[in-house]
Amino acid sequence: MTRTAANHAADKEPTGAATGKLTYRFGDGSAEGDASMRDLLGGKGAGLHEMSRLGVPVPPGFTLTTDVCTSFYAQERRYPDGFEEQIRESLNWVEQIVGATFGDATNPLLLSVRSGAQVSMPGMMDTVLNLGLNDATVEGLATRSGDPRFAYDSYRRFVAMYSDVVLGVKRDDDLSADPFEELLEAKKESRGVELDTELDAGALKELVGEYKAEVRRQLGTGCPDDPWHQLVTAIGAVFESWETPRAIIYRNMNGYDHAWGTACNVQSMVFGNLGDDCATGVCFTRDPKTGARGIFGEYLINAQGEDVVAGVRTPSPIATAARLEGDPPSMEESQGETYRKLLDACTRLEQHFTDMQDIEFTVQQGKLWILQTRTGKRTGPAMVKIASDLVDEKMIDERAAILRQDPEQISELLHPVFDDGPARNVIAKGLAASPGAAVGRVVFSADEATAAMEQGQKVILVRIETSPEDISGMVATQGILTARGGMTSHAAVVARGWGKCCVSDCSSIAIDYAKGEFKASAADGNVVTVKRGDTISIDGSTGDVMLGVMPTVEPVLPPEFERLMAWADEARTLKVRTNADTPEDAAKARAFGAEGIGLTRTEHMFFGEDRILAVRQMILSGSEAGRREALAKVLPIQRGDFEGIFRAMDGFPVTIRLLDPPLHEFLPHKPAEQKEVATALGVSLEDVERRVESLAEFNPMLGHRGVRLAITYPEIYEVQARAILEAALNVTAEGRTVIPEIMVPLVATPSELEAVLGQILAVAEAVFAEMGTRVDYTIGTMIELPRTCVTADRIAEQADFFSFGTNDLTQTTFGLSRDDAGRFLPSYLDQNVLEKDPFVELDREGVGALVKIGVEKGRATRPDLKVGICGEHGGGSVVGGVLPRGGLQLRVVLAVSGADRAAGCGTGSVAVDRWLSRAPTRSRISFATPRGWGRA
Ligand code: PEP
Ligand code: MG
Repeated sequence: MTRTAANHAADKEPTGAATGKLTYRFGDGSAEGDASMRDLLGGKGAGLHEMSRLGVPVPPGFTLTTDVCTSFYAQERRYPDGFEEQIRESLNWVEQIVGATFGDATNPLLLSVRSGAQVSMPGMMDTVLNLGLNDATVEGLATRSGDPRFAYDSYRRFVAMYSDVVLGVKRDDDLSADPFEELLEAKKESRGVELDTELDAGALKELVGEYKAEVRRQLGTGCPDDPWHQLVTAIGAVFESWETPRAIIYRNMNGYDHAWGTACNVQSMVFGNLGDDCATGVCFTRDPKTGARGIFGEYLINAQGEDVVAGVRTPSPIATAARLEGDPPSMEESQGETYRKLLDACTRLEQHFTDMQDIEFTVQQGKLWILQTRTGKRTGPAMVKIASDLVDEKMIDERAAILRQDPEQISELLHPVFDDGPARNVIAKGLAASPGAAVGRVVFSADEATAAMEQGQKVILVRIETSPEDISGMVATQGILTARGGMTSHAAVVARGWGKCCVSDCSSIAIDYAKGEFKASAADGNVVTVKRGDTISIDGSTGDVMLGVMPTVEPVLPPEFERLMAWADEARTLKVRTNADTPEDAAKARAFGAEGIGLTRTEHMFFGEDRILAVRQMILSGSEAGRREALAKVLPIQRGDFEGIFRAMDGFPVTIRLLDPPLHEFLPHKPAEQKEVATALGVSLEDVERRVESLAEFNPMLGHRGVRLAITYPEIYEVQARAILEAALNVTAEGRTVIPEIMVPLVATPSELEAVLGQILAVAEAVFAEMGTRVDYTIGTMIELPRTCVTADRIAEQADFFSFGTNDLTQTTFGLSRDDAGRFLPSYLDQNVLEKDPFVELDREGVGALVKIGVEKGRATRPDLKVGICGEHGGGSVVGGVLPRGGLQLRVVLAVSGADRAAGCGTGSVAVDRWLSRAPTRSRISFATPRGWGRA
């Protein structure tokens, strides 16, 4: 059975119909809810209630709770009992405050109906504005406002929006035009005007008729006139928009629960399009790109909100400081008094919420209304700077600043940027909307982008503007380039939220979807045509659009980053190590702050050109003597590797894992290679073929690997242990501090560990005797099997430390092959059978529980047992995933940031110290999980 989001929403407790209070009122300086009620009122609703309590001017209205939405799904799309009565009562309350009546032909109240889930899902769900208009109320609006043009403009917007959102009258596909936009364009052309604002009341009235005719043509029925019917169906459409494919994709991407449902805010309309003393805009209380202080936003005079967000008209800056040459006057210049009121509201809201806010506002005839406030999305660099600045401004403390760091965004700081050296072949310049360096082939639609990604291609999505329908394609791109739309356009906001590179408002490019090309006109009159499939590079930090591939370089970290990391280092209790297999990686990781190596996979060294033949000779040999002869050649090379790593990690521990993969992995499988090896080793091709065949296994991951190799061929671990300890003594003799930790993989029983321990101890004593000196070392085990977790008390009798190999532990707990899961896991994720890929985010419930048992049992035997994680999850959210809820939320950010810095090589290790007393965070960082043994 395919489970849809509807099933999930229906799963939310309570599963039956919502009862009791369904609507919560706000406005006129009071509210029934507050900021703490996000789950019930949604983020937008909770913000409106809180603002109203604060005395910030918000248009009065009421919120239908998320329970109404989940009840709507649970009750087969029927509203709960009391729904209509409660709406009518709340509506009466709003009518009294505003002094207008819903549906009244002379003094009509108009409403906005907006979605709003407990987390921000920008543009993913639906809204209907100007609700309540029909042929009668529009005349009342025209008379009361004294502006028939405004009234009919509102009416035609309502018909278009209602028909799109509620009735489903849409463009055919993402390369075709919106039917209502087309009619609008045609009207402007027939009237010989360029701007929407130049159409007079008569033209707009005609458009209303044409829009309605289009609806009838497509559906056979018209747009309803009854305001009450409009309201109830619009609320239904808002609830239904929780389930649109784009909203589901967005929730999947961000790990949001499908069962939450959305709230719905019904609010009296205020108008930014009633003349030149009206405006509408969006602003951030700081620059979301750099984090710089100062109001940052855009507005449009005489317009409605969707004009700004949709990027249909390019807006003007709010603050004069942000004005570029050629821009129209800023709000600060043209509406000084309102600007000061806005500034005041921004300051109040920022101080109240103690974070940068993203604010939507409308000015109606000089009166400022705040329509929404929420914590603003920001880039990685802005996140770091804002947190650091807020500490200086005494709004938050250092701990809060650290906790506000999103590890995924921290990794943005480490993304490459374009090299300054080579000349840039700039063919166009747009707004630097979201930083980063993106190189890819040009595609013009979301579908193309998705298809290209499935083929492993890197693409840049080029569109006139993006809309929420493009979301799946936007995910698939390296970067986004739009011809229209400012810093707060859909493309810019979504890209910044994801840390994806975006150049917007690149007005010098003319896109022709039908021809599959765009033309870029340079200032000198030169025109460059870029076709679908051509490669371009876009710079989200400068707005440059360049032809061809531009080289990239490593970024420079902002100064605030070091400051935050220093606070983090002070606060944390976890140690962060890296996974590294070479001296180069080790040195790099150390430079980034790694406090040791949590995992050196020795098999990666075996593939080096200077040793693979000896390794193969060892494997192909049929006798212990033959294997020892071959291993003697490997020994000095491995010793050299370990010496390099120990030098790089002077003073820090290095965990070296003894050989783990099945030997078959090291043998050549193609006939030509087999022949080469046979010749080089002086054996027959048949011998090689026979040995390759004899080593083949049905389930190599569950086969002859890990500690099992040492039980059958003890000489392998003996030689490796010798190489480690000789290297340790040699590097110690150079005056360095070496802390070797020898780790045995895939242990299932105490007896296995005991057997190997005997071998290693004997080798160690021999090496110390030969070299006349000793070095401290420890021997520990990886915990990669459920059996090992549940018998960890016995295992700990033999082990100095545990390192949870969560890659294999996930594989063995789920019985899910990490090599093959990629074939079917995507379906699990698509259908929400699994919420997360367990190889990316640790499965708290199953694998996490086993880890917890392992730690508790291990420490029951050996209270000082050192514990860590070396699977890929160690670089991510594992600790948060495993730990019990509640309590201190400290550290994973720190650990992850550190691991991230430490990694460079893409993985991290976390030494989990006293972790059972720590608590989780919702960090979501994910590193690619290596499939197989990393040979490819
Ligand atoms: C693990 O299994 O988590 C681990 C670190 O080992 P590998 O990925 O090499 O199997
Ligand atoms: Mg493993």
